[in-house]
Amino acid sequence: MRCEVRSGDSTFFWFDNWLGTRSIIDTTGDLGLRYLCIPRQARVAEACPNEAWGMRGRGRRVFGDVYTAIENAQKPDARRGSDVILWKHNEEDFKDHFSAARTWEQIRVRGPEVPWHHLVWFTQGVPRHAFIVWLTFKDRLSTGVRMRQWGIAQGCMLCGEPDESRDHLFFACPYTFTVWSNLTATLLGTVASPDWTTMVTSLLRRNRNKMDAILLRMIFHTTIYLVWKERNSRRHLGPWVTTEAITRQIDKAIRNRISSLKYTGQHKLESLFRRWVEVYIRQ
Ligand SMILES: [Zn+2]
Repeated sequence: MRCEVRSGDSTFFWFDNWLGTRSIIDTTGDLGLRYLCIPRQARVAEACPNEAWGMRGRGRRVFGDVYTAIENAQKPDARRGSDVILWKHNEEDFKDHFSAARTWEQIRVRGPEVPWHHLVWFTQGVPRHAFIVWLTFKDRLSTGVRMRQWGIAQGCMLCGEPDESRDHLFFACPYTFTVWSNLTATLLGTVASPDWTTMVTSLLRRNRNKMDAILLRMIFHTTIYLVWKERNSRRHLGPWVTTEAITRQIDKAIRNRISSLKYTGQHKLESLFRRWVEVYIRQ
């Protein structure tokens, strides 16, 4: 951010970025205070009484650039109103309002774009589901394979298979596969693949109508989220839920999500809902 000096009454001479680069104290350090003889807490208006900059000249040899920048800046003038704080929206663009999105874009480290982001982040997705799905794509769920590195043996809690991996849980495990393939048969028009990579590739295909593509992603999210929850519940000695019961939970979660959506046009929501009921009944 930087400050646009108008009256100069609220901008700190030393600490605010009003010259467009950084604060003066960052350039000169405390030495600047002694050379320029402007008090530490001074506002810009106080550094420019009677329409003339009041700093001493003896620091000019050391901090020539700072002197030049100050002398080139517009002098504070009470008639121009209050000082304005400006937020950086990008390299060239400063505005008088803050934008979290623009700020995040500037401070974040950009990675290469991954093709599967469409399957993780989409308007109709539930954020807490999306987070678990994102961890699944990164293979960062603490499955048996990861826990083995910490010396803990962990088989599949759903079917007893000794090797619990991401690819086993999604969707090779008979428990998950039963739920997943039943719910997706109508939308995929074929039997789902139990192989993670093949399945992701097939979900990324663009030859489906919009409603079906949305529903497939919703089933994908809800299944991963609830199966992972079930796996954790079993691991912590909670009650076991059958594939029929988890399928009903998925149905309820998807209905709730569709009802909560604010979509452009009520008829689109209704047709999404109708299509889901159709898919669910046919499974
Ligand atoms: Zn299993």
